[in-house]
Amino acid sequence: MAAPADGAHAPARSLALSSPLHKAVLRRAYKSGASFPVLNPATGEHLADVAEMGPKDVNAAVAGAKAAMAIWSQKTAKERAATLMAWHGLIMCHQEELAELLTLEMGKPLAEARGEVAHGASYIVWFAEEAKRLYGDIIPTNDQNRRLLVIKQPVGVVAAITPWNFPSAMITRKIAPALAAGCTAVVKPAEDTPLSALALAILAEEAGFPEGAVNVVTCKNPADVAKALTDHDDVRKLSFTGSTRVGKLLMRQCADTVKKISLELGGNAPFIVFDDADIDAAVAGAMMAKYRNAGQTCISANRFYVQAGVREEFAFKLAEAVSRLKMGNGAEDGTTVGPLINPGAVAKVDGLVRGACASGATIVLGGKPGVMGENFYEPTVLTGVTPDMTISQNEIFGPVAAIYPFEEEGDAIIMANDTPYGLAAYVYTRDMGRIWRVSEALEYGMVGINDGTFSSEAAPFGGVKQSGIGREGSKYGLDDFVEIKYISMAGLA
Ligand code: NAD
Repeated sequence: MAAPADGAHAPARSLALSSPLHKAVLRRAYKSGASFPVLNPATGEHLADVAEMGPKDVNAAVAGAKAAMAIWSQKTAKERAATLMAWHGLIMCHQEELAELLTLEMGKPLAEARGEVAHGASYIVWFAEEAKRLYGDIIPTNDQNRRLLVIKQPVGVVAAITPWNFPSAMITRKIAPALAAGCTAVVKPAEDTPLSALALAILAEEAGFPEGAVNVVTCKNPADVAKALTDHDDVRKLSFTGSTRVGKLLMRQCADTVKKISLELGGNAPFIVFDDADIDAAVAGAMMAKYRNAGQTCISANRFYVQAGVREEFAFKLAEAVSRLKMGNGAEDGTTVGPLINPGAVAKVDGLVRGACASGATIVLGGKPGVMGENFYEPTVLTGVTPDMTISQNEIFGPVAAIYPFEEEGDAIIMANDTPYGLAAYVYTRDMGRIWRVSEALEYGMVGINDGTFSSEAAPFGGVKQSGIGREGSKYGLDDFVEIKYISMAGLA
């Protein structure tokens, strides 16, 4: 990998995998046999060798998870909550080391990594509390000789397949509710970022979950491992976060064993700015919704629809704010935009920008790959983008804001909904009537009104259409990890 091109930026804070937790992760990552390397996307530095596991390892992990579930599911909700709280406590005690690990393997700025660790841990507290409220029901009877009851039981061993863009929070958001419900889990983390998963599993063991309750299967080539998980009769639930393409594949694979599934898939988020919006607030929201994690989030704003009266002001102020971002190694103080995950991601983003420009879009700012190393892409603002361009139909997954013009409210809604995706949408306006009209008309699982960052453990996260099935977080987040059992008691007279 090319070294950073110039010495103009501050030297990276020296991050090394040297703490006792880091060393435990390295020991857990690889013992013998086949392995694959994990690289720092900012520098190309080799961080670790990680075991290339396969279907045999999946079978062993599922057997361990099944055995652990026999113990774990028999704990009271209060006992499960206490262990979850202990896990949360350990994660927050190790927040800095976990954040360093995350920045090293994934590239996001250290401040964002700390935020992700805390955000991910917040799901553990939330579901520790929810575990105690997993109520059943007594249904008014239809016969005095009979009583109708509903209890909720853990669904079984859960397979969690997670992406690289939130290597920590995407795992806790799945397995905290699974564990709270009494399930156990086998996690298959993304090949670029397996180290955070291993660290979470080590801390889970320390927190007191039974051996085998949290398993991690690492691999470079995910297809065989995922197939072994989806084919396995003892895996009763798949929770997947990743691309729509792979989500569809896994959905098909789960059909043979009729597994319960939750899918958190890709997005193509519209960000609509109306003439009456507070433009400074819209720009601040856009900076979060677009440039956080270098644009590599599933809810990243992808298409900025800006009404004619404020188009120039919004584009100018956005470009001004973007020009103040500091691209660099996430370990450097002050970095606000890190590298993309790998050269393929840079090539994809660059291709979309070049394609848009060839069809008439204009680069207001940025637009260059490889400025500080081959995984970097300059924060970019494009204007004059139109719905027929390839960039409009694709999840950019990079730090590129594409601005489209529109005239009427109805036009914005039609363009916003003109996609197979339906994860997140953003709307900036101060008109109450419009807030309701547009919120209800948008075919999305989540709508941020004058709000560029709405993820919270207390709120239901998820999409409609080809963006997914199910919700994570909130009081609804446990539903996917329980089965409802109806018990009819007769012979009472
Ligand atoms: P990806 O689908 O390529 O990978 C996700 C996971 O699937 C990884 O663990 C990977 O190893 C595994 N995988 C890849 N190919 C597979 C195959 N053939 N069989 C089985 N498993 C396979 O996605 P990505 O590039 O890692 O992540 C980016 C995507 O994830 C984006 O589309 C993004 O929008 C989406 N995402 C969605 C959410 C959400 O909550 N909706 C959150 C984060 C990311």
